[in-house]
Amino acid sequence: MGKVTGFMEYERLEEGYKPPAERLKHYKEFVIGLDDAQVKVQGARCMDCGTPFCNNGCPVNNIIPDFNDLVYKGTDADWKNAAEVLHSTNNFPEFTGRICPAPCEAACTLNVDGDAVGIKSIEHAIIDKAWDKGWVTARPAKHKTGKKVAVVGAGPAGLAAAQQLARVGHDVTLFEKNDRVGGLLRYGIPDFKMEKSHIDRRVEQLKAEGVTIRTGVMVGAEKDPLGKGSKVTNWAKETITPEQLQRDFDAVLLTGGAEQSRDLSVPGRDLDGIHFAMEFLPQQNKINAGDKLKSQLRADSKHVIVIGGGDTGSDCVGTSNRHGAVSVTQFEVMPQPPEVENRPLTWPYWPLKLRTSSSHDEGCTREFAISTKEFIGEKGKVTGLKTVRIEMKDGKMVEVAGSEQTYKADLVLLAMGFVSPVAAVLDAFAVEKDGRGNAKAHTEFTGGYKTNVAKVFAAGDIRRGQSLVVWAIREGRQAARSVDEFLMGYSNLPR
Ligand SMILES: Cc1cc2nc3c(=O)[nH]c(=O)nc-3n(C[C@H](O)[C@H](O)[C@H](O)COP(=O)(O)OP(=O)(O)OC[C@H]3O[C@@H](n4cnc5c(N)ncnc54)[C@H](O)[C@@H]3O)c2cc1C
Ligand code: SF4
Repeated sequence: MGKVTGFMEYERLEEGYKPPAERLKHYKEFVIGLDDAQVKVQGARCMDCGTPFCNNGCPVNNIIPDFNDLVYKGTDADWKNAAEVLHSTNNFPEFTGRICPAPCEAACTLNVDGDAVGIKSIEHAIIDKAWDKGWVTARPAKHKTGKKVAVVGAGPAGLAAAQQLARVGHDVTLFEKNDRVGGLLRYGIPDFKMEKSHIDRRVEQLKAEGVTIRTGVMVGAEKDPLGKGSKVTNWAKETITPEQLQRDFDAVLLTGGAEQSRDLSVPGRDLDGIHFAMEFLPQQNKINAGDKLKSQLRADSKHVIVIGGGDTGSDCVGTSNRHGAVSVTQFEVMPQPPEVENRPLTWPYWPLKLRTSSSHDEGCTREFAISTKEFIGEKGKVTGLKTVRIEMKDGKMVEVAGSEQTYKADLVLLAMGFVSPVAAVLDAFAVEKDGRGNAKAHTEFTGGYKTNVAKVFAAGDIRRGQSLVVWAIREGRQAARSVDEFLMGYSNLPR
């Protein structure tokens, strides 16, 4: 523990943001990280709790008190050790240091009646320094096992698993249907939240560690591998069948995410101008990457309504404002949660409270307890929405009589989450599904992440349903251990 009385002496320090007027002109990151002196103060606030709830609240179980202490001490050697500590539990701290909602901070003991240690800002500072100083290097395996593993889907789960498996000497091939790796980090999350150069650097590291990356390759049935008429992104130029993979590899790990967007089947849904968030967001990320598109779905000079109050919706708000929308309104069906949580009731768990993102601060009207009854339009194009207010009665959501309203809209973005993985991909492998349509596999220590199909495993959103990057990394790491144990009879990989 760095400073015994630090938590009483110092206030929590927040990372800064560049002003909205400036950041709205571009798609680059705008968070202003803490400097070394500020990180030291932040680290000094940690109490090094006997039972560190932060460590348990973090899905990858980051060893938080240890790196807090190291940045408090603050020599170059300490910072380098802090980066080692981070990497011992998390393959990609620069991803989570930017976009994790930080359940560790909700669980921090200081959060019981005060302000949590700014753990995420410390993680962000450590990993950025580690890259700047050249401390992040490839760690190729010393010995090869001769075993071949196919990882299908290059989101955070697939990337983490591929890295772990290559580091213990397996020949790993990572298959990705899209033209670049990263999954939703690449083609969902906007660049202003996380620039894609962070993924590119890791891709170089993975290659140097021996991972073969094959983009533009769909793994699935030869005909309609995503199901007929699917709107899921697919830029594959080649298809490989599950049978081929099972024949050519000793183990197959499915990390294809949960890409099936939730739809809103109300009258008028087929009007022009109503799109899934995942039709809208990937296009802007492609443009930012320098790609030329024949046409782009844009929000310029439009009244935009985003349906769905979560992260994806917030990313649509930020992107629409950067396009130059006239107005942006976000609908959430649930009632507005309290601004401050009831901490004695919720700590150390993730609390229900009003979350205002940097995108909301850039300009957005937020409507809660509202439901869309119908889309209205002229000449086949959407011009508005008919809505009704919702209230909770006896634990049920009911419509409020007489609360009907009409909103103007030229573009409607559906951001109501994802229902499940693409069923056609799981069906092509004959993988059994759970009640929610996810790949069925438990996560126990022995035999975890194994599906019903011989030598086929599943991890990340494809197994747990729509979740977070940090959970995908955890599952990728744990599944890698399970695959390694299956291939070798034992594993030294951490869980
Ligand atoms: C817009 C948006 C914003 C988000 N913001 C955040 C955030 O701020 N913080 C956070 O923690 N989480 C966020 N999330 C959630 C997070 O991105 C996901 O939980 C996470 O990326 C899941 O990782 P994954 O590796 O399991 O799957 P994915 O990231 O979905 O990756 C799966 C990959 O597999 C590929 N694939 C699928 N099927 C096949 C196949 N048959 N053959 C070949 N390739 C295939 C896909 O093309 C994709 O690249 C956000 C999600 C969205 C959509
Ligand atoms: S719970 Fe908070 S104060 Fe305690 S060890 Fe973790 S970060 Fe430090």
